[in-house]
Amino acid sequence: MNYSESPPQAGEFLRLTLGFLAKHNLSATPVNYTVWYEYASGKNPKLIQAINQMLENKLPLSSNHVEALYQKFISDGDRMVISRLLTKLNLMLREITSHVLETEGDLSAHGQALDKLADQMKGIHDFDDVKNIIDEMLDTTKAIIQSGSRLQTRMKVSSEDLKQLHKELEISQKEARTDALTGLTNRRGLERRLEIERIRARQNNAPFSVIMLDIDHFKAVNDTFGHLVGDSLLKGFAAILSSQVRRNDLAARYGGEEFVILLPETTVEGAYVVSEKIRNILCKKEWGIKESGKRIGQIKASMGIAQYKLNETGNQVITRADEAMYHAKSTGRDRIVIHSDLRMHSTSTN
Ligand code: GH3
Ligand code: MG
Ligand code: MG
Repeated sequence: MNYSESPPQAGEFLRLTLGFLAKHNLSATPVNYTVWYEYASGKNPKLIQAINQMLENKLPLSSNHVEALYQKFISDGDRMVISRLLTKLNLMLREITSHVLETEGDLSAHGQALDKLADQMKGIHDFDDVKNIIDEMLDTTKAIIQSGSRLQTRMKVSSEDLKQLHKELEISQKEARTDALTGLTNRRGLERRLEIERIRARQNNAPFSVIMLDIDHFKAVNDTFGHLVGDSLLKGFAAILSSQVRRNDLAARYGGEEFVILLPETTVEGAYVVSEKIRNILCKKEWGIKESGKRIGQIKASMGIAQYKLNETGNQVITRADEAMYHAKSTGRDRIVIHSDLRMHSTSTN
């Protein structure tokens, strides 16, 4: 998006943006700020329409929702990377085509030369003429081999370039699916993995479960210790999750201070064991600020578990885990709730 407003206009948009952030109880993170600035400046009609619809329907506008709006209506990072890769690919394609056409031109010229020799052969009577024909044929065949080996060398270079581009593509894809702050998989990466697990669950009739974790009273940490401390706490929290999952499990940052753990081949009972382990670690851990030695205290989380049901979408199983997590919040926080079809039962060792 191009911001070309005059300073007084920009000042007015900034004032409106800060008003929106305060009204929706959002901190001025770059993502929150950008979304509301674009809303205030009236420049992004689709974003404005989406926000207005959410406001009309009284839907919440938490930082998770704002981040989703950012991904959908503002961030064009993927498109930029893809367009850069396509430009390179296009150049390479043109180069390869021109080499092939050049070789084709060479070969056709050589073909014509050989045709001419065939004509010449008809009128030959002495050894010298035969020798000349042989020499010319040798020259032509050598030239053909040269054209071929030139093409081969060029194709080798092109294939190395293609391999390099493939690597770049993999790196870009990985970046697009990684949360920059915590290094965990981001929401998009999680959604992709959920699709894979859904297919696997259908094919093998194997269970998988998800745990939704939301840090309790995290806003108070930010308010008391500042956003940077909040950020490093999110990193520490993410590291705990990573340390507690198996190689095939996936710990993802869903957004803000919400995380999801995806556990393939795991029932709710198995997922509960993992949640309890994390809860125990959190219970024992005292957080602090390294530089100043200041104590932060304990960080707790509310967790909701759901096991995938066949024919459910990835979104549906996440929504059920989210419902269970909200149940944990509303029944006292720092607890684990399992979502099951029949009943929602709360489990806590409190
Ligand atoms: P609850 O127990 O009900 O979950 O309370 P809470 O304070 O954790 O939840 P709330 O949704 O009110 O606030 C979430 C907070 O998380 C507010 C937001 O500023 C903060 N947050 C979200 N993303 C980030 C981030 O990337 N860094 C930091 N430092 N804070 C973040
Ligand atoms: Mg939350
Ligand atoms: Mg929270």
